[in-house]
Amino acid sequence: MEPLWDALLVPLWNRALPLLVWLVGLTAVFVPLEILFAAHPPAPRGRQWAVNLAYYFLNSLIAATLVAMPLSVLTVTLHDLLPARWLAVVADWPLWLRLIAGLIVSETGYYWGHRLSHQIPWLWRFHAIHHSASSLDYLVNSRAHPLDMVFSRLCALTPLYALGLGTPVHLEGGLVPVVLSILATAWGFFVHANLNWRFGPLEWLVSTPAFHHWHHTRSGPHDRNFSSTLPGLDLLFGTLHLPAEFPTDYGISSSMPDSLIDQVLYPLAPELTTGQVAEPQLESTRLSDS
Ligand SMILES: [Zn+2]
Ligand SMILES: [Zn+2]
Repeated sequence: MEPLWDALLVPLWNRALPLLVWLVGLTAVFVPLEILFAAHPPAPRGRQWAVNLAYYFLNSLIAATLVAMPLSVLTVTLHDLLPARWLAVVADWPLWLRLIAGLIVSETGYYWGHRLSHQIPWLWRFHAIHHSASSLDYLVNSRAHPLDMVFSRLCALTPLYALGLGTPVHLEGGLVPVVLSILATAWGFFVHANLNWRFGPLEWLVSTPAFHHWHHTRSGPHDRNFSSTLPGLDLLFGTLHLPAEFPTDYGISSSMPDSLIDQVLYPLAPELTTGQVAEPQLESTRLSDS
């Protein structure tokens, strides 16, 4: 029989080590930038930061594993359903065109999945954990219930596969979802960072910290800026909110347990935790004033 170390801990360590390297790299980039270009005075690195750090490892190890199975089923099923002629047309596109088309398609899927997470109460229970951060920094990107992360990834990737942009027709075809997932993850750390950078007239084209910080505002307006990287989608669907200043407060109006275990349990059995059941902070009927 294999020793316990070989059977359990070695594979876990082999997967955790690259995550540790990534974390050191992200920290080396964002911590100095957040000191030099802070949008708000930095919040002390307290319990919230420690929980976010735990989410970083939990989601990288667990959410990625949970999403792998439905994704591989989707890949095979949708690939078999797609007309061969369409697959041939897409396969003939140059990589840059597949990447741009893939970005728009996956962002649109993510936009609507994210919007539904704010509007459907049981989805909001999961997503409220991400919004419960009372201050923002790069690591808040990792603060999400694993099932919320699985849902948003499936929303982003399913249309990609449904349109043949992610099917493994050949090596480059399979590359599109990988490149887009890495880009979206890296950009996620950037837009959560406590950075006062603005992109001027380009802000409608690519998301900035200000764009996503307004998505996290506690006092409103709520239900804005659902895109991950393309604010043009919020412009198109009437949810863009991008004033010159940053919001002054972040978080949700209901209470959320502050330990990791309680938060993971909270959407499934809130009565077992100290949290108050969060209701969606809906402003769907008032979207026209954006
Ligand atoms: Zn949200
Ligand atoms: Zn966020």
